[in-house]
Amino acid sequence: MKTPSGRECPHFFGDYYRGRNVEECRLLQLHSQIWSPDLCKTCPVPDIARANSCQYMQLKVTVARPFTAIFQRRVQVTAFCEKSKRDVAEPQIGCGECHELPFEFEIKE
Ligand code: SF4
Repeated sequence: MKTPSGRECPHFFGDYYRGRNVEECRLLQLHSQIWSPDLCKTCPVPDIARANSCQYMQLKVTVARPFTAIFQRRVQVTAFCEKSKRDVAEPQIGCGECHELPFEFEIKE
């Protein structure tokens, strides 16, 4: 479903049927974080979901204000692989367990 910022996100829920106006982020709700529509604008989750649909990767989200109070609140994401039981440093790429990362080229002279 499209978020208020116009990007497709699998965790956004909106109910506008018959004048209702219910909007929720189910991922933030799952992690007991408070959602507001402005968070979707800078949230990295839609890009991660578009790049990597691994069923074993679990995203953990927190809402934080980077550095000082003058910056806007932002969604920060960490990822964990349930299959390889390790943290995923690059959620858009994955841990490399199921889909091996591209081999390295070695150029011999
Ligand atoms: S805050 Fe992020 S995860 Fe939640 S609905 Fe918005 S874009 Fe999706």
